[in-house]
Amino acid sequence: MTAELFRIVSHYAAFERAVSRHMSLICKQFCSICREVCCGLEYCRETTVSPFLKSLISGARPAKAFCPEQGWLTSAGCALTVGRPPVCYQFSCNKIVNALPDEHCRYHFQVLSELVPYIGKRALGSRHLVEITDLRRLQQVKFERFDKRLRQAWNALNAIRCLNGADHPVAPKLADLSRIIPMPGSLI
Ligand code: SF4
Ligand code: SF4
Repeated sequence: MTAELFRIVSHYAAFERAVSRHMSLICKQFCSICREVCCGLEYCRETTVSPFLKSLISGARPAKAFCPEQGWLTSAGCALTVGRPPVCYQFSCNKIVNALPDEHCRYHFQVLSELVPYIGKRALGSRHLVEITDLRRLQQVKFERFDKRLRQAWNALNAIRCLNGADHPVAPKLADLSRIIPMPGSLI
């Protein structure tokens, strides 16, 4: 792996962990008691064909190996701390969405769900970072584009944290959220 690729793997992992932590604050109370989990082997399998996801997972050394029947799912939830397919962040579960207090919070949650998918978009032509299945092609990704998207995604995450009450030195900018998903007219 080139030094540049190694760098984006580690930056992606740090960002994925940060999104995961924030999502967990919102979702854990629902997912920990859910009887109809939305995980599926077809999603887990994406990690076996994507060199980028494989690099993330091998760096994080999950406690459990991939299982042909259950994928990464365990009785305590997903065994992966990083390297989950981006689609795993894009769920919109009615149990969670309906429990959010207002339309602002629902919009913030929607943006949060798109942040991990966002950073890998158009990494090589129109292909997403995790859709590149050839390691040689992975070395050719547009690193500047990735860095720019990552910066934008961090800005949006920090704005959401701030709007949700976390201390942050910089005031949240709504444009940082609208860049990820346009803000509904009713909230402007
Ligand atoms: S997101 Fe919803 S459906 Fe999926 S595990 Fe959590 S509570 Fe269950
Ligand atoms: S969250 Fe984990 S267990 Fe669930 S589908 Fe994604 S990779 Fe599989």
